[in-house]
Amino acid sequence: MNIILLGPPGAGKGTQAKILEGIYNIPQISTGDMLRAAVKNGTELGRQAKSFMDAGQLVPDSLVIALAEERMSAPDAAGGFMLDGFPRTQAQALALDDMLDRLGKKIDVVLNFEVPRPALIERMSGRRTCQQCGVGYHVKFAPSREADKCDKCRGELYQREDDKETTVAKRLQVYDESTKPLIDYYARKELHQVINGDESPDKVTAQIRKIVDAA
Ligand code: ADP
Ligand code: ADP
Ligand code: ZN
Repeated sequence: MNIILLGPPGAGKGTQAKILEGIYNIPQISTGDMLRAAVKNGTELGRQAKSFMDAGQLVPDSLVIALAEERMSAPDAAGGFMLDGFPRTQAQALALDDMLDRLGKKIDVVLNFEVPRPALIERMSGRRTCQQCGVGYHVKFAPSREADKCDKCRGELYQREDDKETTVAKRLQVYDESTKPLIDYYARKELHQVINGDESPDKVTAQIRKIVDAA
């Protein structure tokens, strides 16, 4: 099963992807997580991506496309994968179609997370991320047991630079301009399914299972 998780920043894609990994036994492929790891490790890619990410802008297509293709070709993605945060532009969607053709794969379903804008802003502003393992928390909706410490690995929690208020507004604008048009692109391919992301994580997972199990 090859799934695309589409939706604005803060919609809950990463949270659901981590839950679904355990249910369907397919990996989450998050270009955002991979780019943050590259920045943290000080690689050439990280060096090139950092200023775009901190400004809430998209990293150039060519960099992200190469990153996604490499990851999708890895052995653990052979039996299926969930793309989280990719594609994000029309050029990335076209490149993905090419890639899938070459790899002899296809997308089975595109899950489009809908969440009202005020909720997105509240989710992003309260999001905390583990420095060490990348797991996400929320100060109000999903707090860690001990303040600023990851439940799973005891790593330190931090607020992403791009989750600060001014950058959040920029990211929502970039989503509207560059990523939202992909809804139509996948609707035309009859792959698009709406998920009401404005419910508890459990209820969101239940909606997804219904659609994926039927696909
Ligand atoms: P969120 O989970 O809030 O939607 P991500 O972790 O997916 O955010 O992305 C964080 C940042 O990484 C983006 O604002 C962008 O700068 C960069 N990024 C991630 N995925 C892509 C992509 N597919 N194309 C371009 N930039 C990307
Ligand atoms: P995305 O990957 O789409 O950017 P995340 O999964 O990182 O979004 O979620 C953004 C923030 O909202 C995180 O702090 C997360 O803990 C929280 N969150 C995720 N799903 C829900 C939900 N259904 N209800 C309330 N908060 C949520
Ligand atoms: Zn951790």
